Amino acid sequence: MSNYDGQSPYGQAPYELRCRECGRRWGNQPRSICDECFSPLEITYDYDTIRASIAQGTFSRERIAQRPPNMWRYAELLPLPTGFEPRLPVGFTPLIQAPRLAEQLVGTEGDAKTAARNLYLKNDAVCLPTLSFKDRVVAVALAQAQAFGFDTVACSSTGNLANAVAAHAARLGLKAWIFIPSDLEPAKILGTQVFGANVVRIAGNYDQVNRLCSQIAEERRWGFVNVNLRPYYAEGSKTVGFEITEQLGWRLPDNVVVPMAGGSLIVKIKKAFDELIKLGLVEEKPVKFFGAQATGCSPISTAVKTGSTEIEPQKPATIARSLAIGNPADGHYAIKTIKQSGGWSEDVSDPEVIDSIRLLAETEGIFTETAGGVTVGTAGKLYRQDRILPEETTVLCITGNGLKTTDVLAGVYEAERPIAPKLAEFEKYLHETLDTIEVAKEAAATVGA
Ligand SMILES: *Cc1c(COP(=O)(O)O)cnc(C)c1O
Ligand SMILES: [Zn+2]
Repeated sequence: MSNYDGQSPYGQAPYELRCRECGRRWGNQPRSICDECFSPLEITYDYDTIRASIAQGTFSRERIAQRPPNMWRYAELLPLPTGFEPRLPVGFTPLIQAPRLAEQLVGTEGDAKTAARNLYLKNDAVCLPTLSFKDRVVAVALAQAQAFGFDTVACSSTGNLANAVAAHAARLGLKAWIFIPSDLEPAKILGTQVFGANVVRIAGNYDQVNRLCSQIAEERRWGFVNVNLRPYYAEGSKTVGFEITEQLGWRLPDNVVVPMAGGSLIVKIKKAFDELIKLGLVEEKPVKFFGAQATGCSPISTAVKTGSTEIEPQKPATIARSLAIGNPADGHYAIKTIKQSGGWSEDVSDPEVIDSIRLLAETEGIFTETAGGVTVGTAGKLYRQDRILPEETTVLCITGNGLKTTDVLAGVYEAERPIAPKLAEFEKYLHETLDTIEVAKEAAATVGA
């Protein structure tokens, strides 16, 4: 059934670009800005066609549930070209409860038992093929890149997008040019090069890389997934919201906590919920949106906390490099999404990011990258501030995999000394180790007393 070399599976509704501010329609073309008012474009659908599919029973909760477990099951709400044939089963990552993490986040003051029942993780650390939610956006962007006739695709990236574009381009036989800040994590650079992509390291930060890409996009007929294809790319993020809803049993959560770089993911999860409500696929209910950033690059959370509606650009200085965008393209809309929902935004320091990566791993067995540490650390703050309550259904978006950012944990763990392969040696080693743990516990108890 799920043959990724063959069939064009599902129905499609007409869609096109529309200016977010003046409403002018632009058809379908590689373009992200309205020439009339210089505002960003987004995709709008012919929702009446989708309603007709629902009335005919070809698109419904039941029909969706029968489709293969990947993001293409929501094809009717994605901008996919006619005759599109999925080549990779992207998405449909696990949504799991996180009782042990919840108890730690709520702390001794909070109602840990209640929180334990209501906290969920959306685990895109295991999104395929490249272990971050960026596989979703790239899958949609490259579908359009092919429809527009590009034989070369490109992007500016803080790391995960680079991996995703390179891998998907390899699968589709497209050439890839990837532009990154030169100080990215080694695993993210290698994890791009391995797919045969051309990697251009720029001596500058992401915002400078992105500006350069806008200039290159004017000169060359290349499909830049997050520049001239950005409106199509961004729609891929909606699948996180569709999946959360379906996996909760076609129910919306009370809260979502979302890491923010350019601010697109949080805005698109909201769009996903709104579309499901509009189409009658889920019951309407208020959802609060909470944004998470690293303190060393927090233009969106700073705006929310100071009550500003506009972004003041920052120079990033954080280990959370995947979120290190000082001038976020969708910052304004992210602020709006958060404020209108009654949510909030917080940020956490680099040491808190590392503690949170370890906490998630030790409580739930999920190894996330720095962005996930930002999300978990922020969620803890929000529980302690009573902005998120234990009885509320809360979903934390874990967006990337820890194996890509192991460098931030260098120095946290000591290399164990090897022992001889003898039982007596091990017994001795075990006693020493247990003694060390006892001493450490006593010391901690003394400090606490
Ligand atoms: C890109 C990225 C984000 C944020 O995405 P935006 O849509 O740019 O806000 C979050 N987490 C990870 C791991 C990312 O790579
Ligand atoms: Zn406009």
